[in-house]
Amino acid sequence: MMSKVKNILGWLWASPVTFFGIMYASLMMIFRYYRWVGKFDNSLVWYCEYDRLPMIFKKMWKKWSGHAIGNVIVMRSYPEENPTLLAHEQQHVRQVMRMGVFQPIFYMLIMIAIKWGTTNLEPYYDNPFELDARSESFKKRSELIN
Ligand SMILES: [Zn+2]
Repeated sequence: MMSKVKNILGWLWASPVTFFGIMYASLMMIFRYYRWVGKFDNSLVWYCEYDRLPMIFKKMWKKWSGHAIGNVIVMRSYPEENPTLLAHEQQHVRQVMRMGVFQPIFYMLIMIAIKWGTTNLEPYYDNPFELDARSESFKKRSELIN
């Protein structure tokens, strides 16, 4: 019961970010660049049709295998093909359900802080939100192996 309430509150708290995610994914879907896959726990998942993308988006997606915006996830592979990536992105969804609009704000601020203030860290790779998501995908991987 309590976790259900907490879950609903998480969706509400994340909703301003999710709203942007849905707008963006829907727009990309109109151009048939993205395809709706389904709901996985608290994630609304779209598939990116990489070959259909115009050059500018192809360049963007070259560096990504997926990303999350609020409760929205876009992946270059299907969740069944890449459950570790799904687990990674789902952890970003959890982060936004905990932090709401502060998640993307802190994510960016930390990236800036790493770029500005450190010489040994990498803004994306060493970002704690990425470390957190990566550890979730490692957990999933060892779950699949064992
Ligand atoms: Zn990530």
